[in-house]
Amino acid sequence: MPVAPFKNDAPTDWGNPENKEELNSSLEFVKTELGKEYPLVIGGREISTEHKLASYNPALHNEVVGYVCQAGKDDIETAITAARKAYESWSSATFQERALHLFKAAEIMKRRKAELIAWQVYEAGKNWTEADGEINEATDFLEMYGRNAIKLEQGQELVSLPGIENRLEYKPLGVGAIISPWNFPLAIVTGMTVSAIVTGNTVLLKPASLTPVVAAKFMEIMHEADIPDGVINFVPGSSGEMGDYMVAHRDINFVSFTGSKEVGLRIDEVAHTRIPDQRWIKRVVAEMGGKNGVVVDESADLDAAADGIVTSAFGYQGQKCSAGSRAIIHENVYDVMVNKIIERTQALQVGSGNENNAIGPVIDEKAFKKINEYVEIGKNEGILVCGGDSDDTEGYYITPTVIKDVTPESRIMKEEIFGPVLAICKVANVEEGVEVYNNTEFGLTGALYTNKRDQIMYARQKMDCGNLFFNGKCTGALVGVQPFGGYYMSGTGSKTGCMDYLLNFVQAKTCAENF
Ligand code: GLU
Repeated sequence: MPVAPFKNDAPTDWGNPENKEELNSSLEFVKTELGKEYPLVIGGREISTEHKLASYNPALHNEVVGYVCQAGKDDIETAITAARKAYESWSSATFQERALHLFKAAEIMKRRKAELIAWQVYEAGKNWTEADGEINEATDFLEMYGRNAIKLEQGQELVSLPGIENRLEYKPLGVGAIISPWNFPLAIVTGMTVSAIVTGNTVLLKPASLTPVVAAKFMEIMHEADIPDGVINFVPGSSGEMGDYMVAHRDINFVSFTGSKEVGLRIDEVAHTRIPDQRWIKRVVAEMGGKNGVVVDESADLDAAADGIVTSAFGYQGQKCSAGSRAIIHENVYDVMVNKIIERTQALQVGSGNENNAIGPVIDEKAFKKINEYVEIGKNEGILVCGGDSDDTEGYYITPTVIKDVTPESRIMKEEIFGPVLAICKVANVEEGVEVYNNTEFGLTGALYTNKRDQIMYARQKMDCGNLFFNGKCTGALVGVQPFGGYYMSGTGSKTGCMDYLLNFVQAKTCAENF
């Protein structure tokens, strides 16, 4: 069956009053939906548990977005049994049959876009623009992985020999655990889950505890898209209570994780601990943190560079693993650039995402405290030139903060903060800038602003990261356009948003038939 070529979804034009009106009424509608209860979903059955966790609005921290049932170890056992059962038929469907569910889900998401944006505003503290980008990313994942899965059906072309027919086919791995983050509660949940199921696996989905209601909405959509019972089992819960148990379980074949470095390393350790009667080595796909940076040469378009730095640093309050939390600037343009960055940062409006303010709240109290601690550390390591204030009376607000004159060895130049804090460092030339850029344990995204071809060629070779941008911001990699994923402690090096990613969830079988 021919499928129309893949095309990224376009951003919504908020200048159009109709779009604005639709979103405002969705915000009102979702407000009336707050505070509901969400069950586990195992083998298609909704299961209510005694233990429920409240999810709160980070912009209004007394407001409950929803109460979400929490899975325990017994539920994990039931879910693994359900996933194994569903695997029998799901794994033998064709890639195309499975892909059709993804295309349907994409259409449903597009239809429910305004409502899904509203849920993101309430539960994740996103503004309209960030939430809109995220829904687009989710539908792009569905469309892209669906199309690529169809290509997998053909296997791989092999050398032919007379008298023998050889084929390489892709087979699923089995049952997997999907452990997703809160910062892209729809896009990453969607990408991680559907890449694993479109390749024939069945899964247990444990969404982040801070944004489980958006994940429950994802489950509703998957149900509407007729994904058979047991293919995706929804098991929110605490890592301590059931996360490790699930990862270590002998009947889990693979774990797909996105989140912090600490948790990622722990999952890797637990997943690879020997167990009695072991039947396979679990595959672990982990996308972890970043300490990304933007290097600016004196030859660069300085206004474009300042725009790129500010957007990369403060988009979604810096809570992206791709966030550009370091600006590394040529000494000849350092002062001018610092002023341009301050000017743009001060213009960012802080406030709730409901009104589409540029800077919303950070996700929770723990993040609020940790980021404020880093602001204090930064004040000792450099000079605070902008921001540094915070207010948690109603929501967890931190003003976008800029700290200049820090050294490459300072903590705010090396540690992931995951908040609206930008460190600025001066260098003598681009070579030194690249060296400073590389001076972290991570290697996710980076950018270089320059007008010199030789510097672009140099950075292509030497800037150590999975996603490198020239004369553009280092966030917002587009599905299919800039496959995403980093080096070193940023993860296991897989690339989301392209064919390669699907290969994480299959094993190849070579069959040779003599005749
Ligand atoms: N893919 C996102 C971007 O390019 C970041 C994903 C993340 O923060 O985990 O901005």
